[in-house]
Parts: sequence; C-alpha cells; structure tokens
Amino acid sequence: MKRNLLKAAISLLVLLMLNVICLAQTPKFRVLALYSTNVESDHVDFAMQAMQFYGRMAAEKGFAFDTTSNWENLNDEKLKDYQVVVWLNEFPHNNTERAAFEKFMANGGAWLGFHVSGYNDKYTKWTWFVNFLGATFYNNNWPPLPAKMIVDDNTHPATKRLPKSYTAPINEWYGWKPNPRDNKDIKVLVTLSPENYPLGKKNIIPEGDIPVVWTNTKYKMLYMNMGHGDKNFTSDIQNQMFEDAIMWLGGK
Ligand code: ZN
Repeated sequence: MKRNLLKAAISLLVLLMLNVICLAQTPKFRVLALYSTNVESDHVDFAMQAMQFYGRMAAEKGFAFDTTSNWENLNDEKLKDYQVVVWLNEFPHNNTERAAFEKFMANGGAWLGFHVSGYNDKYTKWTWFVNFLGATFYNNNWPPLPAKMIVDDNTHPATKRLPKSYTAPINEWYGWKPNPRDNKDIKVLVTLSPENYPLGKKNIIPEGDIPVVWTNTKYKMLYMNMGHGDKNFTSDIQNQMFEDAIMWLGGK
C-alpha cells in the first residue's frame, strides 16, 4: 500500500515536472519579422538593430521571434504558425504575397510596421494597404533629425508608459496625405510636435499635423514611423513603446 502511494506520488511529480518543462518551452506567441538587405543602408541598419532588440526581448519575455529576408514567406502555409508579422524596412511588391498578408490580417493576425514599410504612393498600387494604413506618403525631412513627440493617447497598451511628450532620436520623418487622423478607423497615438517646424535642411517639412504612431481599429495593427538609421533604439523612453507594442500585438 505504502509502495503504491510512493509510486503514485512519483508519477505525479514526473507529470508536474514535464508540464513545467513544456510550459517553459512553449512560446507565448510567435512573431515573424521580414526585412530586406538590398534597400537604403540606413534602413538595413535599423532592421539589424531591431532584430537584436526584439531577439533579446523574445528570450526575456518568452515569445518566439523569427526573422527572414525572403518575402515569399508571406504565404498561408508559413503564416499559419505566427500571430504577429513585422515589416522592418520593406513591404511586399507582388500580388501573391500581398494577398496572403491580407488574408492573415482578415483572420485576426497582428502587424507591426516601421518607417518605409508604410510607404505607398501612386506607383505602389495596393488599394487594400492604403485603406489598412489609412495614409499615403506625402513628404519627408532631410537630413534625419531628432524630433519632439506629442503623445496623444496614454491609454493604449503600446503607449501607456510614455510621457505626454518626449524627444525621439534621429530619424527621417514622413508626412502623409491624406492625413491618417481624418480616417474614422484610425486612432493616432503619437504626433510630431509643431515645435519641430520647420523640420529639415535639404528637404524641409514646413508645418502640418503629422501623426507618427497609429493604429487602425478595424485590425490588430500598429504603424510607427521610426526606422531610419542606427539611433532609433537609443531612447529608453521610446524603447518602452517598441516593447509594449509587440506584447500588445502578441497578446490574446
Ligand atoms: Zn528612411
């Protein structure tokens, strides 16, 4: 009798240990980050640093962070293993990849896009994406510069740890027309402060209401205009947003 009890206790212990090991190995969610290396070198620099930043974070927070420079991975078969897709410095150019991404988002997938990944103009010809992002590229400053940010919304999970305003590190900033704020589905979270204008030297953004971070409330998505050069991860304040963004997108 005693022996049976001992056996039962040991089996239970083994089961519990297996469970703990299993839990430790199962990632909370899976992220697939796509990037390109044949683009502007400042955009490659950002992608490399972003992969280091999120790679470290994934190990700490217990999610999976996979990266690829092969955009053909935007297909149903590959995407079914992931909850979050990140575009670090590029966007899909062909209809097969675009269609797979549209389906992924329609089925409840999450997206984080940085900087040039949100670029679209009359030549990109992807109407779905224009509606999804709620904006079309209009102008930019040059050279890249730090800029003061106004945080519009501190209630969103991605911006809850940001102060009301802060100075973002050196970046190339984009203006948009139409303005995403005019789209009823878009919620703007961070905006360029008017104090920055005129912003630039060679290319000047003279004025304007220019959103920098926003979400389309019809989807689980975030766009952030940061992503040019190797200084974007030098602000502890801003890094909190990069961190909270992915945790929100990967959360249930
Ligand atoms: Zn750029």
